[in-house]
Amino acid sequence: MKKRDAQLGMRADIGRRDFIHDVGLAGLGLMLPAGALAEARFLPGAHSDYPPVENGLRGSHPGSFETAHALAREGRAFDAPHMLDEAYDLVVVGGGISGLVSAYEYRKRLGDDARILILENHDDFGGHARRNEFHQGGAMRLAWGGVFNLEYEGFSPAVSEWLTELGVDIDTLISRVDFKYGADGARGPATYFDAESYGRDVLIPGFAFRYGDFAAMAGLVDDVPLDAESVQSLRRFFAADTDVLAGRGADERDRYLSSISYFDFIQKHGGLTREAAELFINTTHGYWGVGTDGLSVTECIDAGLPIMHLLGGGPGIRNRDIGGNVAQFPDGNASIARILVRALIPDVAPGQGAEDIVTARFDYARLDEPSSAVRLRLNATVVSARNEDNGVSVSYVKDGRVLGVRARHCVLACWHSIIPHLCRELPPPQKEALSRQVKRPLVLTNVLLRGSEAADRLGISGAHCPGRMHAYSWLIKGVEAPGYAHEWSDDGAVVMQFWGTVGPPMGEMDIMQWHRAQRAQLLSMSFEDFEREVRTVLNGMLGPAGFDPARDILAITVNRWPHGYAYDYLDLWDPDWPPGQAPHEVARQRRKNIVIANSDAGAGAYTHVAIEQALRAMDELVEMRT
Ligand SMILES: Cc1cc2nc3c(=O)[nH]c(=O)nc-3n(C[C@H](O)[C@H](O)[C@H](O)COP(=O)(O)OP(=O)(O)OC[C@H]3O[C@@H](n4cnc5c(N)ncnc54)[C@H](O)[C@@H]3O)c2cc1C
Repeated sequence: MKKRDAQLGMRADIGRRDFIHDVGLAGLGLMLPAGALAEARFLPGAHSDYPPVENGLRGSHPGSFETAHALAREGRAFDAPHMLDEAYDLVVVGGGISGLVSAYEYRKRLGDDARILILENHDDFGGHARRNEFHQGGAMRLAWGGVFNLEYEGFSPAVSEWLTELGVDIDTLISRVDFKYGADGARGPATYFDAESYGRDVLIPGFAFRYGDFAAMAGLVDDVPLDAESVQSLRRFFAADTDVLAGRGADERDRYLSSISYFDFIQKHGGLTREAAELFINTTHGYWGVGTDGLSVTECIDAGLPIMHLLGGGPGIRNRDIGGNVAQFPDGNASIARILVRALIPDVAPGQGAEDIVTARFDYARLDEPSSAVRLRLNATVVSARNEDNGVSVSYVKDGRVLGVRARHCVLACWHSIIPHLCRELPPPQKEALSRQVKRPLVLTNVLLRGSEAADRLGISGAHCPGRMHAYSWLIKGVEAPGYAHEWSDDGAVVMQFWGTVGPPMGEMDIMQWHRAQRAQLLSMSFEDFEREVRTVLNGMLGPAGFDPARDILAITVNRWPHGYAYDYLDLWDPDWPPGQAPHEVARQRRKNIVIANSDAGAGAYTHVAIEQALRAMDELVEMRT
């Protein structure tokens, strides 16, 4: 039976939560003081001057996107800017990793006197590399508000060298991590089938659709709340040890596996009923930003899904280490952003390098000081960047005012889909290519729990939820740094992280239509929608072990990323572009004093891609000078 809101702990006092919809706020966003719409339900005193501690709707928080939407969606023309008496060598549009690396690299090449202004539309820096910091349970608890991992296997030598220069040592980071994305419980990973989707709440510890001990799954399917035929099909699927493509040559196999979706394949060749196959759809929502109905079999092998046992791989290679090979800070790659900001603006925090970064206290009031050669201006949405005779002119909206600055150079390290609207002089083919960079929406909701007793009792540390918005949940412990420890034996407050996306069924939509539909849905959701969702899941999953959502939830931070992962090309949706003609290559062309960075420019949703693209963009500026 559905629990009523009061039993779930939803507060009657919804206060300003009604403000968060994405309808007709273009004007409103310009009228309100920066951050005025942001919520801080769980913090007394509303807004702090330290954004990482804010709860409520974060990520692309209310107040951050309305100006850009007015520009891009409504074609709004802005007044001529009031030109500030500030002159810069470089203006950086976008304070994510790529923008910060650009600033760092530019200064390295031009010297410490280089004057740099970084403009960022959010109330925090780092872009997707966002830190969530909780204090409601006593000791500080950190969580990723966006980027989790340094995926070092993809690093080029230049990126490795560059991170080493920053003081980031991958081996050291790895040695401090004891965390397995929801598989840390005594009974390993788990799957939670919720009552709203499947008629009754069922938790099956040990059962996993990704990175599981797939050979053992056949023995666990009896409890799956589907009809008998579907359960039987799951049993056969997991028990299979065969090669369904026997007789086909290697090239033919590769072509076929890249041309059929995983969802279709497991029905056609794995014998699953449609209902059983649907259990797998959201397994890749967080990892790829796309379901298994939009991904090829080849792509799903990389995502840790069970398939090799149908392709002659045998049971021996069914499993992979959960999470792959990654290195982490307790606040994810927000630490990289913080290292960079502190290097650029030393007054913002004491210390330097990577070792103390997690506990360094940042003074946001020092980010934008006239005396500093590098300034970082938050809540500032750029609406125009133009080449002029000897430089560039950039205008932005902040606190409802249109302001302008001049510089020698500009790097657009922002999301590519906005660039055609703010840099109108670009040639049409380039604008067209930029518009194709439709990012994949994601949501990462962090819930601070009073403790992990209920999960411990069940022997789990999270679960895959095939029927829910957040496909996965996991307790975050065991990611440490000097001065910050959170052992698995610690019974104090702990963050349960929920990871996934929203969207209508893909149906007949193509991938771009689907991402746009997802984005519209995500932006139309209120904080309450997310809150009710996580309370419902926690109640159904942990309730039988004594968890009370009305009592045991201390804070909720929703990191909503309507513009999430950079668009990387997918087998089922994108052609093989001739060298140099892929949309991201056309999109990132320099235009006089304006260069283009961001992970979009590398068509890869990774921190190392964001870094590489910043280095390339700075190479282009340096070339221009010689
Ligand atoms: C939830 C999530 C999890 C992720 N996890 C990982 C991971 O584990 N590992 C990994 O390697 N990568 C991960 N990524 C990918 C991530 O995008 C990259 O790692 C990297 O952080 C991208 O940096 P960027 O600077 O290119 O872009 P962003 O981080 O998007 O930064 C661009 C900035 O430009 C700002 N901007 C846009 N338009 C304007 C404007 N008009 N004016 C001013 N500012 C503007 C944006 O608000 C943003 O802050 C994740 C992404 C998301 C969303």
